[in-house]
Amino acid sequence: MKITLVGATSDITEQKRNVLALHESEQRFRQMAEAVGDVFWLSLPKSQTILYVSPTFEQIWGRKCDDLYANPKLWMDAIFPEDLPHVTECMESLSVGKHYVVEYRIRRPDGSIRWINERAYATRSDDGQIVFTSGVDSDVTEQKKMQQSLYESEVRFRTLYESSSDALVLLDDSGFIDCNRAALRIFGCAKREEFLNKSPSFFSPPIQPDGGDSAILIKHWHQRTLKSGPQRFDWQLRRLDGTEFEAEILLNRIELQGKWVIQSTLRDITERKAMLSALAQAKQQAEQNSRAKSLFLANMSHEIRTPMNAIIGLNNSLRKENITPQQVEKLEKIGNASEHLLSIINDILDLSKIEADQLKLENTRLDLYALINSIPIMLGESARIKGLTLHLDFAGVPRWLRGDPTRLRQALLNYAGNAIKFTQHGGITLRARVLEDDDDAPLIRFEVIDTGIGITTEECSRIFQAFEQADGSTTRKYGGTGLGLAITQRLARLMKGDAGVESTPGIGSTFWFTARLNLAEASELEPPKSPVTVDAEAELRAKHRGNLVLLVEDDEINREVATELLSDIGLLVETAEDGLQALEVVKAKVYDAILMDMQMPRMDGLESTRAIRNLPDRQSVPIIAMTANAFDEDRRACIEAGMDDFISKPVDPNLLFAVLLKCLNREQKTDRENCL
Ligand code: ADP
Repeated sequence: MKITLVGATSDITEQKRNVLALHESEQRFRQMAEAVGDVFWLSLPKSQTILYVSPTFEQIWGRKCDDLYANPKLWMDAIFPEDLPHVTECMESLSVGKHYVVEYRIRRPDGSIRWINERAYATRSDDGQIVFTSGVDSDVTEQKKMQQSLYESEVRFRTLYESSSDALVLLDDSGFIDCNRAALRIFGCAKREEFLNKSPSFFSPPIQPDGGDSAILIKHWHQRTLKSGPQRFDWQLRRLDGTEFEAEILLNRIELQGKWVIQSTLRDITERKAMLSALAQAKQQAEQNSRAKSLFLANMSHEIRTPMNAIIGLNNSLRKENITPQQVEKLEKIGNASEHLLSIINDILDLSKIEADQLKLENTRLDLYALINSIPIMLGESARIKGLTLHLDFAGVPRWLRGDPTRLRQALLNYAGNAIKFTQHGGITLRARVLEDDDDAPLIRFEVIDTGIGITTEECSRIFQAFEQADGSTTRKYGGTGLGLAITQRLARLMKGDAGVESTPGIGSTFWFTARLNLAEASELEPPKSPVTVDAEAELRAKHRGNLVLLVEDDEINREVATELLSDIGLLVETAEDGLQALEVVKAKVYDAILMDMQMPRMDGLESTRAIRNLPDRQSVPIIAMTANAFDEDRRACIEAGMDDFISKPVDPNLLFAVLLKCLNREQKTDRENCL
């Protein structure tokens, strides 16, 4: 169908030219109409006659143009019933010359829906009559979808924004320009108007807790945010009712309509702060408890060892007197019982210390070969008495390591001691192997293999617990407390290893433990410490008879025991009852050596030693701790205070003689390390 052109003229040439021109213009119009994606239409006013519709109609409406020309109702029929009344209204207004823009939905024959944006115009003739109406229909379905998804995402973001428990606010130079509900709640505002347009200073006390001026600081934080991006800090804020609270603030800059604004997230940290302070208090309390525990353990050790020293010392001294063989036997039994009691006390103190998390391992250079070799030196005699062989096998393990030699030896001695105790025939092998060859901290496995009574699988899982023995009769037959294995396992775990056993009853057992030890550089300058000189007593008698020793000790019986022990070998002994008295006599007299107790009234051994070391000409007098405080840290404290060596109570006379000999042999105190 073609546009109906209405017109009249008498001049045929003119008429022809006009027709031609019109034809050309119509052609151009058609080309244009067909080139764009919109639908152009032209119709007669007040009638349903469609004069022209561009072919795009077919794509958008999904119907043939010719069908529309034949049945213009198709147009209106496609429109959604809900949208139709408004469209009809618009079309009616067009028939009286009112342009309109309307948006409506159509359903296409395939059921799909399209959004149409329609703009329609009325064209009037010179006399004002409306000659025809025309319009442009654009398919805006995609735009609508986008708008919808934009709307949905805006709703989502708004929901997020509003559901945040942190206050989220936007602000520019004029103050707060937006906020979520949490902000209103946190600042105690009932309505948005109470919050918006106010400045951050309004909601801050004039001075911050650290004394800073709030207004100046706010400016500073804002400038930093705008210049460098996100900033986080704690800040004192004030609610609308004037009450204050502490918040963590995160500032961020964001671009909003071409201009930088600040987005701030505020979190009330009053509760967090309260929790942190409660935690700090709990930690302090725990530390206090732990200090109290270690003090208790140190005191226990002191209180138990002091009388033990008296018992063992007096027993030793009685044995030297002129007594009957029966008395010798009884005293020997007292001696054995005391030694046994002492070993139990040591075990209990060790275990309590480990359980209280108070045992700190040393990390010193150790010679593993010397350490393993020392085991048969210490236990060889008891193995020999039972006719057992003792075999060492440690090929391939590194010699120089760093760790805690005392604890390592303790673990090995416990296993080896048990092996001898529970084996009647055959032999014991002490073996060491590298289990994991880590670069600088190999995991070493130590095994003590015996051919003894063995234990059942059920017993294996129990015996590493404290106070557990394989069966009830063990105590009666072999003695012991059931603490040794528990201590060994805990020591192994402290050394980043573990402990266990494989055993066959009647055949024998392999007790093992592992320990991670750091490799150390070999040093021939530090030879392994030689075992205690056996004939120290004789050498002391021969070389140091008449030397003057000061014994500082507050316990009367222990003073008596030690004085007798030292006088017996020809030393001259003077005594002081506490650290202060010791200091006074040392000022006045030159002693060859000082034996110093640690825990004493008025002035303890550490303080006294420090004071003595500060005296002129007393830097080199040998001071040996002789104390019932026997833990490693006590030893360290003594050395740090300036003492030369350390002997724990109950005093082993041979050890005391050996240490004294070493210190007295030294002409001049040039190298204190020699004496350690
Ligand atoms: P104690 O030996 O003082 O009783 P331990 O913890 O050292 O304490 O040992 C616990 C128990 O494990 C022992 O009583 C014994 O029953 C068993 N046991 C330990 N070593 C061996 C061993 N080499 N052979 C057989 N049984 C052993």
